[in-house]
Amino acid sequence: MKSKIHQILKSTFGYDTFRYPQEEIIVHVADKKDALVIMPTGGGKSLCFQIPALAMDGLTVVVSPLIALMKDQVNALNALGVKASAYNSHASLSELNAIENEAYDGKIKMLYISPEKLGTKNCMTFLSRLQISLVAVDEAHCVSMWGNDFRPDYLNLAKLRDALPNVPFIALTATADSSTQQDICHQLHLNNPGIFISSFERKNITLSAAPANKRLDVIEALIKRNIGKSGIIYCTSRKSTESVCEALINRGIKADFYHAGMAQEDRSKVQEAFINDDLQIICATVAFGMGIDKSNIRWVVHYNMPKNIEGYYQEIGRAGRDGLPSEALMFYNFMDYEMLKEFVKDSEATEAFKEVQYAKLDRMWECANTSDCRTNLLLNYFGEYRQEPCNHCDNCLQPKESFDGTVLAQKALSAIVRTNEQISMNMLIDILRGSHKKEIVDKGYDKIKTFGAGRDRYAMEWKSFITQMINQGLISIDYTDYYKLKTTPFSKNVLSGELKVNLTASVLKLKTEEKVVKEKKTPVKKEFGPIDNSLLGKLKSWRLFKAKEMAMPPYVIMHDSTLEAIASSSPINQTELASIPGIGEHKLNKYGDELIKIVTDYLA
Ligand code: ADP
Ligand code: MG
Ligand code: ZN
Repeated sequence: MKSKIHQILKSTFGYDTFRYPQEEIIVHVADKKDALVIMPTGGGKSLCFQIPALAMDGLTVVVSPLIALMKDQVNALNALGVKASAYNSHASLSELNAIENEAYDGKIKMLYISPEKLGTKNCMTFLSRLQISLVAVDEAHCVSMWGNDFRPDYLNLAKLRDALPNVPFIALTATADSSTQQDICHQLHLNNPGIFISSFERKNITLSAAPANKRLDVIEALIKRNIGKSGIIYCTSRKSTESVCEALINRGIKADFYHAGMAQEDRSKVQEAFINDDLQIICATVAFGMGIDKSNIRWVVHYNMPKNIEGYYQEIGRAGRDGLPSEALMFYNFMDYEMLKEFVKDSEATEAFKEVQYAKLDRMWECANTSDCRTNLLLNYFGEYRQEPCNHCDNCLQPKESFDGTVLAQKALSAIVRTNEQISMNMLIDILRGSHKKEIVDKGYDKIKTFGAGRDRYAMEWKSFITQMINQGLISIDYTDYYKLKTTPFSKNVLSGELKVNLTASVLKLKTEEKVVKEKKTPVKKEFGPIDNSLLGKLKSWRLFKAKEMAMPPYVIMHDSTLEAIASSSPINQTELASIPGIGEHKLNKYGDELIKIVTDYLA
């Protein structure tokens, strides 16, 4: 079988070698065993079912949700000399009849079917009369409510599976966290499937995130770094795709926009121009990019925070499919978060579904705000537990200050273990802080050893620490089981003291007994000069904290230009601070001491 599949790879597809782990998957499937394949976009999932389809007798059914993409794949296969057809609602009755007859005659090797069609009685009868050798379920996350794109029609697949108990099923997706992976196997009735997970790390993409300040300036700088190269700016609303586009054009940058509210004709025109490199920059809603395989997209910007990590990962994955260096930059602000929350609230979904969406949105917000390695956060989210810094994200390239949080981590983990992994984050925080809430007393959690062991920390701090531990892969969240916290393969090493845990103090740090001990030097006044960005970062964190504390927009607390002036002249006393534009008497009295402390601590 191995030599046969190598031969097909070369003769039909023209490739010399498999990418890892294509070969293992193909051999497994050709051996008539079920499989679940989790592989990033551009990883090469199609070959995993197309080669077994050609290697086996009979017909392979491919279920795929995107009709446009289905057409492309069928055309591509036909161009390789493989007989493939698309059975979906775009085909007329007579076309469907023709396909059926060809299939009965054994003339079709691969039949692409849309999930809606699959639900019809006609289609099931048709399929029952064929010799089917393999069923491939592409975009398999659509079968799960835990995934980010649930399609009820996908549930029809379980019926097909039950009608074909001896036919191997291969489910493929680029986006499924560990709960979703399990749910896919369950929903598709997969039989003891082999699970193949490729690394999700996209080493050629530099990840960064920034609060949504002066977005257009930042984007303009990014475009100037990438002259003549393709990029996408994702916006949440149709309207903002147009306004961002207009703003770029006003700055002399050629761009266009794309969203689902446009006429089909206009949309195709823009998409074509982009694919063909006639247009480099496109401002779009996430509808854009689904059906295109353009490999030289050099940068992706999220003008607004995405609604979940699956979506974020998928969208940044459109950059750099050719493996060359690419950038992904996400802007975020609290308004995005609140607005997305409203969307979920106002949607017509069931409460259970909404709960999942809220939880995913929270994780996205944490992802935006993290000071840990962003790649590891994504990998850990998808169940690929990893700790080494990636060195291609902003937090690895410019790390924030951290301290040894091993003891804190041990306290949290020990409480999780001692409650048999039956508690959610809020419950864990209550236990650590020694709350006597009824539920805690009823369950006897006030009797465990770690009860109250984290009293010296505020709940907000614990929330930040636990979040960092999740992002570092030391704790995981089970979405299928009331968001209970679970241990991971790393947890025991932390408990045994083998693995040290670094945490960063949260911006919302309220108690300071754990100050990082540093040699105190007398502050040296810096000359007035260029903006010191790392001081500016500290000032902005402070402002964000104040803004949240006072429930006001940050610019009301202090303008950017004021913070920039402070960051470039480093005032160390009231007189110097008073000379900064934007600092009047009131602000001097109100914030003077705090600002001077930030500057002097920084200079020290
Ligand atoms: P996915 O469905 O995982 O996003 P595709 O199956 O569309 O990815 O493959 C992405 C690209 O990689 C395609 O252009 C495909 O031809 C190419 N490709 C896949 N496997 C190989 C291989 N073994 N050698 C060379 N190119 C490959
Ligand atoms: Mg694919
Ligand atoms: Zn990193």
